[in-house]
Amino acid sequence: MEEIQQRQRCTLCPRACGADRDGGHGSCGTGTGTGFEVASVTVHHGEEPVISGTDGLCNIFFSGCNLQCIYCQNYQISRNTDRIPGSTLSLPELIGRITVILDRGIENIGFVSPSHMVPQVRAITRELHRLGYFPIVVYNTNAYEKVETLRSLEGLVDVYLPDFKYMDKSLAAHWSGVADYPSVACSAIKEMYRQKGNRLFFTDSGKLRSGMIVRHLVLPGAVASSIGVFRFLAEELSNRLAVSLMAQYQPTRHVMGLPPLHRKITAAEYEQVATEVERLGFENGWFQEYDSAEQYNPDFTLPSPFGG
Ligand code: SF4
Repeated sequence: MEEIQQRQRCTLCPRACGADRDGGHGSCGTGTGTGFEVASVTVHHGEEPVISGTDGLCNIFFSGCNLQCIYCQNYQISRNTDRIPGSTLSLPELIGRITVILDRGIENIGFVSPSHMVPQVRAITRELHRLGYFPIVVYNTNAYEKVETLRSLEGLVDVYLPDFKYMDKSLAAHWSGVADYPSVACSAIKEMYRQKGNRLFFTDSGKLRSGMIVRHLVLPGAVASSIGVFRFLAEELSNRLAVSLMAQYQPTRHVMGLPPLHRKITAAEYEQVATEVERLGFENGWFQEYDSAEQYNPDFTLPSPFGG
């Protein structure tokens, strides 16, 4: 299939690891020479209200990830060293799972951790269009993306949902294994902004039809980095951008011996970041409740990872 390219010497994402994805797995843990490595296709209610709405969206959780954040809360499907629940599906099998959900009236689909699966994102979206399905396409990314790869998605992605993780190179190196994360993510988010700007467009039902929301998860002991993220957005892009400040960090068993990641964020840490977001003049977006960590514990070994 023409779309499933990048099989040899893959340079799709900024890792540019050069893996032969036909014969083996890249740094992202995935091969995909012959299919679609998917951990879960499920209705999800846990995104921002304008994305989940009341009926949820159809999320496609890809297996593996091009970042390896040691604290990842989706570690069951993102740690490339582990056996990941899910399966390798053909395009018709995957389309079948998606359309069963869309046929219930769900308006949008979300590609989660798609950076290493961009050719697959294009193939899925075009096949849905060929079959007469035109869902809102949400691109839910860690923002470790190449600009040229994002350009290939212009016109296909309706909503960019980047999680802008750090502005601190040292944290990025220690916690995600990529010291260049801040510079790469800044360029990627600028490209998303070039495509979408800061205006949000909605359907009659109130779902986000087109636009961009920048997420940020506050991490323990990393207030300065968090503040740096929002200063970059305000100074280099616009404080009219929609932002989503998240407090849901919860330590997994993988970081129990790694302070400060072994603890939740404190109320004071969250307050410092939230105060700076307000001081910078951001007025569009969402602040999670401080004490929301318990609500976001997926189990990808279950048919419905988020319950329900
Ligand atoms: S997408 Fe995967 S195989 Fe391709 S460059 Fe990135 S980590 Fe390597």
